[in-house]
Amino acid sequence: MALIITSSGSARNTGPVGGVIATVDRDHCTKCLTCMRLCAYGAISFDGDGIAVVDPTSCQGCGLCVAACPGAALILGHYTREQMLAKIDALLGEPEAIHAG
Ligand code: SF4
Ligand code: SF4
Repeated sequence: MALIITSSGSARNTGPVGGVIATVDRDHCTKCLTCMRLCAYGAISFDGDGIAVVDPTSCQGCGLCVAACPGAALILGHYTREQMLAKIDALLGEPEAIHAG
């Protein structure tokens, strides 16, 4: 859970935001599309080079794509600070302060 303190000083609970998301090792992606087909959250797209890209605001960290990737290109890891803020921004808009709990 994460708690957002708004500019007015009120606290809003964001609900579950998880703490783990998938990331792609570009050097190992074979552009097979398996991850995109499996992801129930629509979190995977492809960049201009055809390499898989995970949207950290949509990924729920379920690990399905990681297990299925034939190239072992997908990795489950904890959010970076920037990824966590991007997810919170997507949920609530610009956060002023964040308190994890
Ligand atoms: S399943 Fe793995 S190899 Fe296939 S597109 Fe996704 S990241 Fe690339
Ligand atoms: S970990 Fe789950 S939610 Fe995240 S991109 Fe992979 S299949 Fe989608």
